[in-house]
Amino acid sequence: MSFMPTFADAEALAEHQLRGLQWTVRHAYNNSPFYGARLEQAGVRPEDITSLDDLAKLPFTTADDLRATYPFALLSVDPHEIVRVHASTGTTGKRKVLPYTAKDINDWANMFARCYEMAGLTAEDRVQIMVGYGVWTAGVGFQLGCERFGALAIPAGPGNLDMQCDFLVDFQTTTLCCTSSMALLIAEEVRRRGLKDKIAVNKVICGSERTSDAMRQTIGRELGAEIFDIPGMTELYGPGTGLECSAHQGIHYWADYYILEMVDPVSLEPVEPGELGEMVVTTLCKQAAPLIRYRTRDLTRLILGDCPCGSPLPRHDRILGRSDDMIIFRAVNIYPGQIDAILSQAEGVASEYQIILSREGDGKDYMLIKIERAENGSPGDDAAVAAAIAGAVKSQLMVSPQVEVVDYAGLPRTERKSQRVFDRRFDD
Ligand code: ZN
Repeated sequence: MSFMPTFADAEALAEHQLRGLQWTVRHAYNNSPFYGARLEQAGVRPEDITSLDDLAKLPFTTADDLRATYPFALLSVDPHEIVRVHASTGTTGKRKVLPYTAKDINDWANMFARCYEMAGLTAEDRVQIMVGYGVWTAGVGFQLGCERFGALAIPAGPGNLDMQCDFLVDFQTTTLCCTSSMALLIAEEVRRRGLKDKIAVNKVICGSERTSDAMRQTIGRELGAEIFDIPGMTELYGPGTGLECSAHQGIHYWADYYILEMVDPVSLEPVEPGELGEMVVTTLCKQAAPLIRYRTRDLTRLILGDCPCGSPLPRHDRILGRSDDMIIFRAVNIYPGQIDAILSQAEGVASEYQIILSREGDGKDYMLIKIERAENGSPGDDAAVAAAIAGAVKSQLMVSPQVEVVDYAGLPRTERKSQRVFDRRFDD
């Protein structure tokens, strides 16, 4: 049994998307007081949606709208049709709580089963699910998808390294599902205990946090496994709405379940195809809490062209940052993640850095990037290293920073995520 879509070509997919968009707008307009009022206010009626271009007429939905319709965000069905709720792990304000109908749960299981299929699993595979179970979408999502797909699910949950290692050996687990930091912990534990020859792991499906290439390489090497990024957010069912394929050139997303737009987070206009933008999603068949142009705040870019794996499903890049983190510098929109990406490619430097923005007496804004020299680097190379980084930032982001290379371990480190951007332009 295959969970892959059956549309024949891009035209058939577009036709499917238009029918889904029309259904969603009509459903939301008729059944949700929130959406009904919002669409009226925007002057859009369901019958106005006659082509995919009409998407641009629809108003955006935001996280604030979810909170305003708490506890059953964006509810568009009779409450008795809800069979489950999930909540996000959000820390500020009220949690996002999303309702699901039986059909929503069923659709999500099929989407998630597709992830396992895309990663190349079969019914022979044994899947150790090391993510949180509870009101969050992670554990139950991985579980549901695995059972729908037909592989063996081991609902191990996170933590408890002793038990995880026992399971790896005893069950001969082939696939791990976890965060990348958990995968790194497991990889280190497997090495420490000398278990590599006793385990059968060959794939890791990694979700919910940014993973550096270096970290992926370490996990892959230590476990002898192929790594697949899985995207997902509670608002859009949960994890499992796309997957990196075996060509490892981006994440295929399930365009038969939702439309993905990329917009400039300031102007809200579409960005050029392939340019960095904020992901905006519109669901095509979600009943309990449909999303209409929901601003995810996640930044990435579409990857254009055909994937070598042959899948007709479109692709986006890994999540490169949050639009809330955007810096406007000399009229250029910059995301710290873009600078992070450039620095991670640079030679002769370590991974710690700071970006300091200041406004000088001439009224102009200046950017100073401080980065640590590589542990075995030579101070004699600093000038060349700094010039190379400044050149790369200039050519990719159209801004000219000053770059200062400091001693290895010369920048502060904290257990928590370090603050890397210091905007001093508006200090007195
Ligand atoms: Zn592919």
